Amino acid sequence: MYSCAPRSVIRFMPRKLTATFTLHSSVTRHHHSVGPLTELTDDELMTRETVAKLAKEEIAPLVRKMDRDGKLDDGLVRKLFENGLMGVEVPTEYDGTGSNFMNTILTIEEMAKVDGAVAILVDIQNTLINSLILKVGTEEQKRKYLPALAQNTVGSFCLSESQSGSDAFSMKTQARKDGEEYVINGTKVWISNADVAGVFLLFANANPSAGYRGITIFLVDRDAPGLTIAKPEDKLGLRASGTCMLHFDNVRVPEKNMLGEFGYGYKYAAGFLNEGRIGVAAQMIGIAQGCLDATIPYTLERKQFGQEIFAFQAMQHQIAQMVTDVECARLMTYNAARLVESKKDVMKEASMAKLLASETAGRVTSKCIDLMGGVGFTKDFPQEKYFRDAKIGTIYEGTSNIQLTTIAKCIRKQYG
Ligand SMILES: Cc1cc2nc3c(=O)[nH]c(=O)nc-3n(C[C@H](O)[C@H](O)[C@H](O)COP(=O)(O)OP(=O)(O)OC[C@H]3O[C@@H](n4cnc5c(N)ncnc54)[C@H](O)[C@@H]3O)c2cc1C
Repeated sequence: MYSCAPRSVIRFMPRKLTATFTLHSSVTRHHHSVGPLTELTDDELMTRETVAKLAKEEIAPLVRKMDRDGKLDDGLVRKLFENGLMGVEVPTEYDGTGSNFMNTILTIEEMAKVDGAVAILVDIQNTLINSLILKVGTEEQKRKYLPALAQNTVGSFCLSESQSGSDAFSMKTQARKDGEEYVINGTKVWISNADVAGVFLLFANANPSAGYRGITIFLVDRDAPGLTIAKPEDKLGLRASGTCMLHFDNVRVPEKNMLGEFGYGYKYAAGFLNEGRIGVAAQMIGIAQGCLDATIPYTLERKQFGQEIFAFQAMQHQIAQMVTDVECARLMTYNAARLVESKKDVMKEASMAKLLASETAGRVTSKCIDLMGGVGFTKDFPQEKYFRDAKIGTIYEGTSNIQLTTIAKCIRKQYG
């Protein structure tokens, strides 16, 4: 848990102001929905600028150290809370920023331009944890958890297990009813931010005889007896984001901590992962754009054969292709985000955006290293980190194969 610093700290994204703008943006959204996807409302522009400023001034100086140490800076996490970035869509009545999904997406993109690891913290908190509690939580749960999640408590999303990754609903973790409580036993793996989380949104099967229709979500506090959190995995990328195994040994959770309906966990996961996937797409376009922004100026400065390397047509074409590909992924991501705001079904669009953005980020960050030559292969330049961080995009919240399967399902429904 992170205690909030005094109010004298510069607030990059004043909650009151944002909330006021948001009221306008939700009204003007209908007028803008027929305009260009990348044309941002005043409210969205303000979000992008304020988050970019915070990323440049507060995150950038810490990126190398956090990547090397494999740990987020505590002070930085506190600043994310203070600036309203951990509760972007949480209504002001629950101490959140009271903004909307498009602003969440812009926030993730801007953060990822500077650090993908910070971006995934902000992404999961907003698109999966807060979002689920807001949509299916009881009033009591909202009052207890949302102010904490918006102000000082990180949440983790616990779905994957060692034998159930892509096939997530074949999970073995069980919740057995015992009086007014559920007793949870099982092991979760790959849980992002578990090293710093104060609350865990846990998927467990509370009625295994009903198969996946027994899957139910529980809110579990970090200090619950019987919960152990292993040390973070040693990963290729997103090294500052702690990814841990969690073991539940007869962990008792009061019945009132059940989130949503009994046996609806699979439905919630399938539905809410759509928003999560758009968040990952935003993270990936941010990583790709950040890498391009660090690479293109170098090609305008570096000279070979007596001229800047950007002057070679072979270089220009590769750069033009990359910029086009990233813009294409951005359009899909913004479109999916705007569809969420319009309360449209986004299953296909979310999968397409995540697939395209993550595959693009992988290609672009790899190609940027080529364009840099030898220095791109060193830790003196940022390209190698962007490249390492981009790799996860094709794996978490559904691998690229799983996105293709989801898209194919939607196509069959459309034509079948
Ligand atoms: C850094 C990191 C952070 C993560 N954070 C979280 C988190 O916060 N919470 C959480 O719950 N999980 C998290 N995960 C887990 C992540 O969502 C899973 O790793 C992912 O869903 C893939 O599952 P798996 O690793 O078991 O791979 P597998 O499912 O074993 O897949 C292996 C390969 O088989 C392919 N495959 C599997 N099934 C099919 C199919 N039906 N058709 C075609 N191909 C298929 C896959 O595409 C992949 O290429 C995280 C993982 C990582 C690495």
